[in-house]
Amino acid sequence: MKPILREPISFQIDLENYNELINAGFILHGHVCPAMPLGIRAALEALNTLGVDRAQNKELHVIMENGPSHAALCFSEGVQVGTSATFGKGEII
Ligand SMILES: [Zn+2]
Repeated sequence: MKPILREPISFQIDLENYNELINAGFILHGHVCPAMPLGIRAALEALNTLGVDRAQNKELHVIMENGPSHAALCFSEGVQVGTSATFGKGEII
């Protein structure tokens, strides 16, 4: 069965907002590494592909599978920053 996807909504993040997300990610994550920004990029691409906005309050849930390696966990923090779905709000499983 082919998934039904909406047209991408107006969610577009400009470079200034993208840089704010990267900076927020580095504050959250605490060190400089390539995996966290990749998580942000993947999250933004997923939001655009699915036609949904960043999480506000439990209207978006993320199911994430990753391994225990350092880079996988860094990536997951980027996904939190990019989607605004967080472990703290119970929006990521
Ligand atoms: Zn890292």
